[in-house]
Amino acid sequence: MLSPSQPIRLAVEDKLAALRRLDRGRPWNSLDDQLYCTICKSVISGRQIEVVGGTNGLRALHLKCSTPGCLSTPADWILPVKSDTVREIDILFRDNGA
Ligand SMILES: [Zn+2]
Repeated sequence: MLSPSQPIRLAVEDKLAALRRLDRGRPWNSLDDQLYCTICKSVISGRQIEVVGGTNGLRALHLKCSTPGCLSTPADWILPVKSDTVREIDILFRDNGA
């Protein structure tokens, strides 16, 4: 039996590829890209996001917020914005709303 939630250590390029594949809503230019987790109210970077899941390829993987106990998914992460916060978030939610 496989234990399903072991964080996996990946090389930088592999982690970036996993982020792009598993979180298609964002461009993921680098692991320094930051997101705001609406569940634990923290800003997390690609570096902090944990890739967890199976051992048989990227399809079995999923992404996890680095905050212990936070069960958010990529759908709960938004881009942190420095100004016009409300309007930007509103646009983001419209884009994701389908
Ligand atoms: Zn979180």
